[in-house]
Amino acid sequence: MTATTGDVLIVGAGVIGTTSAFRLAREGWRVTLFDAAPGSGATWAAAGMIAPSAEVAPGEEENFTLQRGALAAWRDVAREILDVTGDELELFETGTLLVGFDTSDRRLVDQFSLVAQRFGVAPQHVTRESHEKLFDGVSARVHDGVLLDGDAWLDPDQAIALLTKANASLGVTLVRQHVLAATTDGDHVEVTTAEQTFRGDVGVLATGARALPEGVADRVANVVRPVRGMTVRVQGLDRSALPTLRAFVRGRSLYVVSRPGGYCVLGASSDEQGELVVEVGELQRLLRDALDLVPSLESAAIVETRQGLRPASKDLAPFVEIVDERWAWLSGHYRHGVTLAPLTAREALSFAEGLK
Ligand SMILES: Cc1cc2nc3c(=O)[nH]c(=O)nc-3n(C[C@H](O)[C@H](O)[C@H](O)COP(=O)(O)OP(=O)(O)OC[C@H]3O[C@@H](n4cnc5c(N)ncnc54)[C@H](O)[C@@H]3O)c2cc1C
Repeated sequence: MTATTGDVLIVGAGVIGTTSAFRLAREGWRVTLFDAAPGSGATWAAAGMIAPSAEVAPGEEENFTLQRGALAAWRDVAREILDVTGDELELFETGTLLVGFDTSDRRLVDQFSLVAQRFGVAPQHVTRESHEKLFDGVSARVHDGVLLDGDAWLDPDQAIALLTKANASLGVTLVRQHVLAATTDGDHVEVTTAEQTFRGDVGVLATGARALPEGVADRVANVVRPVRGMTVRVQGLDRSALPTLRAFVRGRSLYVVSRPGGYCVLGASSDEQGELVVEVGELQRLLRDALDLVPSLESAAIVETRQGLRPASKDLAPFVEIVDERWAWLSGHYRHGVTLAPLTAREALSFAEGLK
């Protein structure tokens, strides 16, 4: 670790702000992190998949290339967390099994495979006959699918908890207050809450899909819109030793991220809305699709629903925007913020180092 280099103020303690705080603190920066409700944004709802192969989408080549480096970056973060706290951040490198529920859904899997191959992913065709175990719990209607290497998942709750613990050990100050204004006089940055004003050398905005504070809100070029998503958490199905199950069911995407002990994250809905409510139809569709794909979920217990706002930029790609030289805005992570957090944190560090 280098010597202390300066003060950085970070607004927003989701996965992006919390990981950036860790990266900067590890490099010797004095960090103050602001959030009235740390970890309560989109990060709270996320399934935690780091799944470049399953996430390929036409037109998102650059994003895919970025995501390919994400798992290695998370491995580095896990090693550093262990170093600082003695605790292990678990990364489950399971790969993905993608299946289609009906005939049209199987065509979607075929189309996905063609796109994936263009991205350099090699989907492996598997059948119930050749790989019976992989289809454990999956509806008998599904006879085949494709296996995708290189995908993994982590538990975002664990990641936030361990990063927060590590940050505390590294001297990061967590201010549980909402930031009203973020400004600069050219040499320093200032953050104003309802209670206090804080001064630093450099600032990072990691507010996800939420509106930026005054002072910077009207000075940015990028636009971020909220895309609401919901996950349903159930207890009663353990496929944790198997690849993450993803599917097209009646044209909709579905995933079942199964953790050891029978806790499963079913996801996810996607609505162009910024209001955090759970609609009956949205919940019904997700549960019906999940039950059709995995009939044994019938007797699983519902633990909770979680919903969050994905921060989507115009081109659905993440960005780092420099505002008035001293503020960097890190957003646009959309479906991939957990995946990309360690790589974005490196960008936060480069930005701060560049201003030294
Ligand atoms: C249902 C769902 C499932 C998902 N699954 C995955 C997945 O499997 N893998 C993956 O990689 N990504 C996934 N994502 C996407 C991922 O969750 C987001 O891209 C990521 O969480 C964005 O992180 P963030 O830190 O930018 O935003 P957030 O997590 O929203 O955090 C922003 C934080 O800023 C704080 N804040 C905002 N304004 C202020 C202010 N003025 N002052 C102080 N604090 C402020 C908020 O309180 C919040 O805590 C999913 C998203 C959803 C909704």
